[in-house]
Amino acid sequence: TPATDANSRVTPMMEQYLEIKAAHPGLLLFYRMGDFYELFFEDAEIASKTLGIVLTKRGKHQGMDIPMCGVPVERSEDYLHRLINAGHRVAVCEQTENPAAARARGNKSVVARGVVRLVTPGTLTEDTLLDARTNNYLLAIARARSSSGGDRIGLAWIDISTSEFMVTECATAELAATLARINPNEVIVTDALYGDADLGPLLRELPSVTPLTRDVFDGATAERRLCDYFAVATMDGLSAMSRLEATAAAAAVTYIDRTQVGKRPPLSPPSREAAGTTMAIDPATRANLELTRTLSGERRGSLLDAIDCTVTAAGSRLLAQRLAAPLTDIAGIARRLDAIAAFVADSAARDDVRTTLRAAPDMSRALARLSVGRGGPRDLADLRDGILAADQALVRLAQLETPPLEIIAVMEALRRPSRDLAREFERALAEQLPLIKRDGGFIRENYEAALDESRNLRDASRLVVAAMQARYADTTGIKALKIRHNNVLGYFVEVTAQHGDKLMAPPLNATFIHRQTLAGQVRFTTSELGEIEAKIANAGDRALNLELEIFERLCVMALAASDDLRAAAHAFALLDVATSLAKLAVDDNYVRPEVDGSLGFAVEGGRHPVVEQALKRAGQPFIANACDLSPGPAQKSGQIWLITGPNMAGKSTFLRQNALIALMAQIGSYVPASRARIGVVDRLFSRVGAADDLARGRSTFMVEMVETAVILNQASERSLVILDEIGRGTATFDGLSIAWAAIEHLHEANRCRALFATHYHELTALSAKLPRMFNATVRVKEWQGDVVFLHEVLPGSADRSYGIQVAKLAGLPPAVITRAKSVLAKLEAQDRGQTARALADDLPLFAVPSRAAAEAAPPSEAEQMMEAVKALHPDEMSPREALEALYALKAKL
Ligand code: ADP
Repeated sequence: TPATDANSRVTPMMEQYLEIKAAHPGLLLFYRMGDFYELFFEDAEIASKTLGIVLTKRGKHQGMDIPMCGVPVERSEDYLHRLINAGHRVAVCEQTENPAAARARGNKSVVARGVVRLVTPGTLTEDTLLDARTNNYLLAIARARSSSGGDRIGLAWIDISTSEFMVTECATAELAATLARINPNEVIVTDALYGDADLGPLLRELPSVTPLTRDVFDGATAERRLCDYFAVATMDGLSAMSRLEATAAAAAVTYIDRTQVGKRPPLSPPSREAAGTTMAIDPATRANLELTRTLSGERRGSLLDAIDCTVTAAGSRLLAQRLAAPLTDIAGIARRLDAIAAFVADSAARDDVRTTLRAAPDMSRALARLSVGRGGPRDLADLRDGILAADQALVRLAQLETPPLEIIAVMEALRRPSRDLAREFERALAEQLPLIKRDGGFIRENYEAALDESRNLRDASRLVVAAMQARYADTTGIKALKIRHNNVLGYFVEVTAQHGDKLMAPPLNATFIHRQTLAGQVRFTTSELGEIEAKIANAGDRALNLELEIFERLCVMALAASDDLRAAAHAFALLDVATSLAKLAVDDNYVRPEVDGSLGFAVEGGRHPVVEQALKRAGQPFIANACDLSPGPAQKSGQIWLITGPNMAGKSTFLRQNALIALMAQIGSYVPASRARIGVVDRLFSRVGAADDLARGRSTFMVEMVETAVILNQASERSLVILDEIGRGTATFDGLSIAWAAIEHLHEANRCRALFATHYHELTALSAKLPRMFNATVRVKEWQGDVVFLHEVLPGSADRSYGIQVAKLAGLPPAVITRAKSVLAKLEAQDRGQTARALADDLPLFAVPSRAAAEAAPPSEAEQMMEAVKALHPDEMSPREALEALYALKAKL
């Protein structure tokens, strides 16, 4: 029927929409129509639900209403932000010609449109879409399969909002730890890797993963794509990368090319992070130690929050980066510590530098915005102010007594940006700057003659209009006559309704042409007004175009200097981190750690940086404790400490504080202690607390065992291991046995430094057998039947757990407490400790010699028997041979 015909006809606009939509699967399409981005069909439904905006309809498609919703262009960043946070990606489609051009082609033509950008979580540059204090990384992961099973992983990560570009390689087993360290906002992989049986599950758990076709990860074209991006003939001069790293790097730049649709944000040449130069920390340990987030997911209460006294966003980002990747290189650590020491020693310099930094803008993000054409006048001003701040900082740094290496490097970098550039920007930019360049008004007077001329013309014509108004009022005798302006009519004459007739009647109607009648006013135009209007518009347009041209020119200058500007921006971040850690060290009374190549670990007067601050706010003291895990005479101490003591005594705090002190030392920070000597830790492991991981369908106990397995399989002699209450998630004897065997394994096989907190007092018996194990306990005092926590860690073991006293403190009803006491008395009569001591005496240490030794060990009797039986082939034997074989076997027993 005709009706369905009309319904199924696709309008030219809808045709264009569907074509663009089909070319961008998986993305919401922001389709520009006038002052709105419109979304249609399913996109509209998703957006209206996510953004809480009204869903309407527009026309029909195949007989059905088309759902639609829209967001105003002016406020689109806010909406984009919410969609990205909700896990969506957006293709932004703009009108690429003006409507007049389309009309000129014929009245049925649709305005040409094209996608100008894909907005994905890992490729953001807008300030409003980014958290200033954290890096926003896009990470590409490439894999090289190897027939021997030792697959390698190549990684490349980029923050396009700051131009940072890093590459590295790792083994597949280390991927989880590496991902936790980089903490990317978006990950790209091949479809194959995404669906991989081994790595797929790990990848699919990440917040935002984009699987891409294989060609993006094609190793053969990687070098060419990179050269193309950096506009060089070979990458050799820019960066030393392995083929696998280059593959990942090329995938990342290809993806950036795609999402920025041809615009190429400048990137630093890929910088290679050599394997093994950072302390490995697996995801569970990062989470348990609450490095950047607490277990409940907040920044407040994390280590980063406690030690972050930076005054710039870039400084905060750098500190977070350092915390994520502590060094293992002693010289590198010392260099950072020297810089802090300089500012610990000179508090005036510290304060002055921080004052300068506080006022300094985030140059790297300003540059990144300018480079993709999303910058504004204030970004240019940021660069200008950045260079001025560099001068200020240089003056102050030059007064330092003996500047250490790191500060010398900072000073060199701060000298790099051209001062002429700053002077040019200073000359060009107005005092008050608008946020966007669109409306002009950001170039100073007297900067460019042509601009001044157009502006004068525009303003002079405005004076002419004012004069005209006076003249019209005079000739018509209407005092209240006004010349006004709006976007629809342009300039017009306005009088109140009562005077309208007068202008519409002869002789005045020869001059005044009626345009509009409103409730209270009548509006007119005149030919003279039309002429002056055109003049004003022309002069205004010309002035605006000139300003935009100047803007482009200044942008080009800025981008040409981007390497120098970025170097200076990085130097600011370094200074911020050094001065802020110095401030922290002074305020919280930290000490410079000695970090060396030994296997030692000796902390005196150690404190927990986060707990100490919390107690300080509450006006309470933190009790400092020593910890010595250095190798040496066994009586003195030992590399494995077994810490017993009641709940709430401070065991976990003690464990964590020592892990954090090692970690802080290796990021090159002072540490909360009165003295600390740390032999570089290659890997930090922790198994603390027990958080159910129900989302992944694992019980507490399973999580605990998986984490413990990782530690026992991977910890080396250089590692530091923190184990809190392992075995707690299961029945007592199971738990005790597992804890027991784990300690033996750490002692005999891993031979690492370890702190082990436990409820199982039975374990203390192990120290009799294990020479490098040492018992420590957290002291409590009993006072009138209650328990008082002294938080002091001393040699020895707790004689009892005070569980009932703690329960009493927690407010359990008295009847329950009394009953529990009598049950305990009965149980204690059975004395589990006795059994354990016997175990320690009788059980041979379980055998964990090296693998080679295990292979060389002679087979046991049973194994010999098995081998002999296996060697028999009854089908090939005569009855007599069979009988002889039987006798031979019997003889072996
Ligand atoms: P445990 O692991 O033995 O159950 P925690 O380490 O969780 O005990 O400590 C319990 C509480 O005791 C902490 O929240 C903290 O407030 C306080 N605490 C722990 N160690 C100290 C210390 N060294 N000085 C002061 N207070 C401490």
